Amino acid sequence: MPRVVPSRRDRPRPDITPARIRAVEAGSPAERAGVGAGWELLRVNRLGIPDILAYRRELGRGSARIEVRDPADGRLVEFEVAWEDPGLEFEDVIFDGIRLCANKCDFCYIHQMPQGMRDSLYIMDDDFRTSFLYGSFVTLTNLTDDDLERILDEQLSPLYVSVHSADEERRHGLMKPWPHKVPDAGAAGIRTMIERLEPIDLYTQMVLLPGRNDGPSLTATLEYLASRPNVLAVATVPVGLTGHRRNLPELEPYGPDGARAVLQRVRAFQERMLAERGTRFVFASDELYLVAGEPLPPAEAYEGYPMLENGIGMVRDFLDEPPDTLPERLEGRRRALLVTGKLFAPVLERAVAPLRGIDGLELEVRAVPNRTFGEVTTVAGLLAGRDLLEAVRPGEADLLLISPNMLKYGTRTMLDDLTVDDVAVALGMPVVPGGSSLGQLARTLLQGEAADVAPSFGFSTHAVKEASEQH
Ligand code: SF4
Repeated sequence: MPRVVPSRRDRPRPDITPARIRAVEAGSPAERAGVGAGWELLRVNRLGIPDILAYRRELGRGSARIEVRDPADGRLVEFEVAWEDPGLEFEDVIFDGIRLCANKCDFCYIHQMPQGMRDSLYIMDDDFRTSFLYGSFVTLTNLTDDDLERILDEQLSPLYVSVHSADEERRHGLMKPWPHKVPDAGAAGIRTMIERLEPIDLYTQMVLLPGRNDGPSLTATLEYLASRPNVLAVATVPVGLTGHRRNLPELEPYGPDGARAVLQRVRAFQERMLAERGTRFVFASDELYLVAGEPLPPAEAYEGYPMLENGIGMVRDFLDEPPDTLPERLEGRRRALLVTGKLFAPVLERAVAPLRGIDGLELEVRAVPNRTFGEVTTVAGLLAGRDLLEAVRPGEADLLLISPNMLKYGTRTMLDDLTVDDVAVALGMPVVPGGSSLGQLARTLLQGEAADVAPSFGFSTHAVKEASEQH
């Protein structure tokens, strides 16, 4: 019989940071074993468990011996499960700490953040596990051979990868990886990584900087990415700048001409790919169309919106669910104020035009200046609660509708930790998220309260990345 050599991942490892248990399901094996909220998971099948993926993987083997500890008195408990969920819910999905990035990108949003935001917004997450779990973009410069082996072995697919440029020197110049933080400089090149990850599907993005990686360089990168069978699509997003760039290289945002030039290249590539492969392959972010002043593509041009969270097609998706039949009048008068970022305000103004005919409904769309990040920042997702308090006078409306993108995913909390309720109290009026489609927005306006507002994309994992569409 040949000797079975366990892969690196399967070899017993020293204890990893214990995973804190948030809750224990009633009637579950864990509860029957006496485990409670606040306890810690130590090992499964004698192995240290670095994250939820490894935990699920061990459970997937069928039988699992689970070791937990009560930190209050150090008591250890072991119990076994066989094809049954133990009933543990954890505080985090990553148990051994988020893998931080090894770069110092010229355009990094975290380096140009104002102070006083929520702590989690300053975490420079570049962790392939959150990429797989949540779709956050990673650069791959911090991967070790063990990580690569694990990604391939566990088929962590798809991953979301920030490419920026397939020209290694140019990419290096944009991202400036720290030599002492990159585990293997020889293997950290983006082409090497993409090629080593060939069995893994990749959604990629390019954060574009005027004159740095657009023009012919953009086309060359698209050519390379299109040549790789595991690259499914490319998102092109413009660099996002704030008014808090200190000790950072001078960068220019895109103006209408620059954005139009990018769109021209993207469209030319799309047409070719559509004819050759039946997919457009490359997509431009909403921001590029809005800055260029060009019409947004129709819904079908987004091919199912695979990168919606990255600002690719969000506006089209919002506009394409129209309001239901509108009433002629409201019972009673209602003054509603819709606040959003400067970029989206003109689109919203046009979109709500049909609602202006409703008798008794007074509507105002207001573009809120971003004093927190600086007025160069025009997306709604980076408005903070304090910006609303500066832009709206107490009692000036009966209802304030905010963009759901201003809220942390699944919560009512804004970037500066002010909640929707804090703003409502300060302004003396109901404040509600307006919904992620025009139809939801209209229902909210007519009912005077949030109707069926679906969770919106917010600031879940790599908070600022998601809001600013870059990493
Ligand atoms: S943009 Fe992302 S990868 Fe680049 S320095 Fe910032 S956190 Fe790191």
